[in-house]
Amino acid sequence: AKSAGGNRFERADPEADARVITRHGLTTALPAALDRGEFFIEYQPLVHLGDGSVRGAEALVRWLHPQHGVLGPDRFIPLAEHTGLIVPLGRWVLEQSVRQAREWRERHGGDTAAPLRINVNLSPCQLRHPGLVQDTVEILEHEGVAPDALCLEVTESALIGAEDEVLEPLHRLAEMGVDIALDDFGTGYSNLANLRRLPVSALKLDRSFTQSMQRFPADPVDLKIVEGIVALAHSLDLAVTVEGVETGAQAEQLRILGCDTAQGWYYARPGPPERLHELALADATG
Ligand code: C2E
Ligand code: CA
Ligand code: CA
Ligand code: CA
Repeated sequence: AKSAGGNRFERADPEADARVITRHGLTTALPAALDRGEFFIEYQPLVHLGDGSVRGAEALVRWLHPQHGVLGPDRFIPLAEHTGLIVPLGRWVLEQSVRQAREWRERHGGDTAAPLRINVNLSPCQLRHPGLVQDTVEILEHEGVAPDALCLEVTESALIGAEDEVLEPLHRLAEMGVDIALDDFGTGYSNLANLRRLPVSALKLDRSFTQSMQRFPADPVDLKIVEGIVALAHSLDLAVTVEGVETGAQAEQLRILGCDTAQGWYYARPGPPERLHELALADATG
């Protein structure tokens, strides 16, 4: 048994090796990748469920790796969080996104009723970084973008049960007019009463709820849950955005349930900034 165990231990597993090398390799390549400009951002529109107009976009970061091609954030954000690179990377994403929001505003002129807003994801490490508020203020001022054109998305799990020190910078940003949205809402074990002490102005309902609307008829319990979340959110003056809308039927169901804005492949996949500009423009003129 002992020798068999030894054999098993020594047997090569090339796939596992590749995973380890990749993970390690990616981690060590991250800082240089930022310097070399290998990251880029795709924008996915946020659409008003009532009238179908494009209201803004979420910024989603990607890494164009010289060997591995385009890597999604799930591949490298956890590594960047682990090494602390998420702080400069997150600041870069914020800078690019706010600059983009300013460009959209300039190119649109008076074509749209309201300027396109930009949603940017914030990782828990960034929340704990002391420079967050000042960096955000400086970036907005540098681009001449109003704070209410920016929405920072923080996951429910990062905020529920967070100490006051973590919430304090968010309160300051919210007082300045920056919107804070609770991302992936409904996946954690939140005490809903807790919402009142968080400086949030919107909930982003997790994709798992949208997926259950795919089935027809949808699970009546899921319908009740979404109905309840929307009622609670609206009674607290929070807007509700839904993620992962892939079909018109889902969009219609979620509109009937009272959700405010939607995001998903049904409207558009994440794409280059010009695409969002075109979508918003088509929307404003036709
Ligand atoms: P998230 O914030 O929940 O973003 C939504 C994810 O759902 C995105 O995946 C988006 O491409 C995907 N998605 C959008 N519509 C649909 C749809 O209709 N169907 C399906 N199946 N998926 C849809 P993505 O771009 O791979 O991003 C994954 C996660 O990475 C994000 O989840 C976010 O937590 C994180 N992330 C992305 N960019 C950043 C960033 O700049 N900073 C930080 N800290 N995290 C980021
Ligand atoms: Ca998000
Ligand atoms: Ca989300
Ligand atoms: Ca998610």
